[in-house]
Amino acid sequence: MFIVMVSPECAPVAKVGGLGDVVQGLAHELAIRGNSVEIILPKYDCMRHDKIHGLTKTYEDLWVPFYDTWVHCTVYFGWVDDLKCFFIESHSTHNFFNRQKYYGDADDAARFAFFSRAVLEFMLKANKHPDIIHCHDWQTALVPVLLYEVYANLGMTHPRVCYTLHNLGHQGVTGEQILRQVGLHPPAYNTPQRLADHTHPGAINLMKGGIVFSNFVTTVSPTYAGEIRHTEQGMGLQGVLEAQGAKVGGVLNGVDYQIWNPEIDRHIPYPYSADTLQEKVKNKKALRERLWLRDDFKPIIAVISRLDKQKGVHLIMRSIFYALEQQSQFVLLGSGAEDSINSQFWDIKHSLNDNPDCHLEIGYNEELAHLIYAGADMILIPSVYEPCGLTQLIGLRYGTVPIVRKTGGLADTVFDANYADKPYAERNGYVFHNLDNIALESAISRAIGLWYKYPRYFRELRRNGMRQDHSWNHPGQDYLNIYNYIKA
Ligand code: ADP
Repeated sequence: MFIVMVSPECAPVAKVGGLGDVVQGLAHELAIRGNSVEIILPKYDCMRHDKIHGLTKTYEDLWVPFYDTWVHCTVYFGWVDDLKCFFIESHSTHNFFNRQKYYGDADDAARFAFFSRAVLEFMLKANKHPDIIHCHDWQTALVPVLLYEVYANLGMTHPRVCYTLHNLGHQGVTGEQILRQVGLHPPAYNTPQRLADHTHPGAINLMKGGIVFSNFVTTVSPTYAGEIRHTEQGMGLQGVLEAQGAKVGGVLNGVDYQIWNPEIDRHIPYPYSADTLQEKVKNKKALRERLWLRDDFKPIIAVISRLDKQKGVHLIMRSIFYALEQQSQFVLLGSGAEDSINSQFWDIKHSLNDNPDCHLEIGYNEELAHLIYAGADMILIPSVYEPCGLTQLIGLRYGTVPIVRKTGGLADTVFDANYADKPYAERNGYVFHNLDNIALESAISRAIGLWYKYPRYFRELRRNGMRQDHSWNHPGQDYLNIYNYIKA
C-alpha cells in the first residue's frame, strides 16, 4: 500500500511531544511491513537539520494558492533514519515556517492551513496518488476537506483519508477568513454540519472539518476514544464525534523499540534488560553524576513532560516537595510554552538550587530524556487528561515504574500494584483517581514504601512492565486494517 503521512511533527527531526514519536514509529512499522511510506512536513528553520540525510531539492517551483494570489514554494526530499520525508519551504514574506519555534504564534491557523493546501498542491503536481493519506491533529485537518472539495475535481479521486486526533485540547478554532485563504467559499463551509465551531459564534473549527471529511477518525487510546465522545473531554466536539461514531475508533499508540529500548539505547552508558537490572543501577549513578545529585540510598522520581496545565503542573509542583519530604530524590525535565508556568518552575528551581536531592532541568533535551528514563526508579504522570501518553510506556520499557492518574491512555496501560483488577504479573505501577494532593501523595508514598521495604517486589514490578509489549506491532496491524477497510 502507498501511504502518505501528513504531519506537523516527526521525531527526531521535528518533535514537540508524543505526536512526533507516533508519526516516526508508525511510519517505521508500516515501512518494515513492506508498505511504501512517505512523510510530508513543513521545512521549519528550527528543526534538527543534523537528523536529515541527503537533503535535496526535489520540486523547485511549486506555486500554492493563497487568497487571490500564489505563494512560491520549494519541496525538499531527505531521509530521516530510513524514512522518506518531504519538506515544504515557503518563500512568502509571511515566513510561515521560519519562526524559531514550531507553534505558538498568533497566525498558527494560517500557517498550517497554508501547509495543508501546499501538501495537496505538491501531490497533484508531483502526480502522487497514494492509497491512504494519514493526517495528524488540527494542523493538517484541512487536507481531507480540500481533497474532497477541491482536489477530487482536479483528478485526485483515489486517496482515502485516515485522520488521527492526538489531543482535543488544540482544535484550530479560528476565523472564517482561513477558508478564503485556502480557496473555500466561507458560507458553504461555515455551517453546523461542516466546520462551524459549536462554542464560538462565527468561528470555524479545523479539527471538526477533519472529522467530518475524513473516511476514518482515530484517536490514540480506547479510553480516550470513549471520553471524547461521552464526556467534556471532547471539548465541544462530543456531538460531532458521536454523530460520526461509525467511523471513529481508538488505537493505542506504540513505542518504537528501535529507539526506546534500554538494551540498545545509544544515549545511555550501560545497556540493560529485565534480566540484567543490576546494570540499571549504574545508569542511576551516571544520571546523578550528570545532574550533580548526591549518591545516596534513595529512589529517584522523575517527570519528563511538557509543562502544560494538561499535564497537572500543580500536582507536579507538589510532588517535588513531597518526594523530598519522603526521602526521595526528584528529577524534572520539562519545557513549557506558557511563560507563567515556566517562571513558576524557575522559582522552584532557584529555591531548591542547593538541594543535593533535586534537579529541575527546564528546557527540551532529547538525549537527557533517555538517561533519565534509564536512571530513575519511578516516573510520575499526574495528567488532568491524557490522550495516550508515551512517557509511561517508555518508563515501562526502562523498568521505571509509572505513577499515574487514571485518565485516557494512562488508564489503559498502567495497572496498580495493590488494587488493580489484574493478575500480579500484569500489574506495573501506581494509579490514583482524584486530581488532588491527597490522591497524588498516597500513590507516591505507596511506591516509595515498596522501594524501601520490599525491594524484591519492586524489582518484580519493574520486570512486569519491561516484559509488556507496547511496540508498534499490534497498533501497526490495527492501522493497516483501518486503511484496508477504507481503501478505494
Ligand atoms: P505529549 O505529546 O502530550 O507531550 P506524550 O507522553 O505523548 O506527551 O509524549 C511526550 C514525548 O515527549 C515523550 O517522548 C517524552 O520523552 C518527550 N518529552 C516531553 N518533554 C520533554 C523534554 N522537556 N525534553 C525531552 N523530551 C521530552
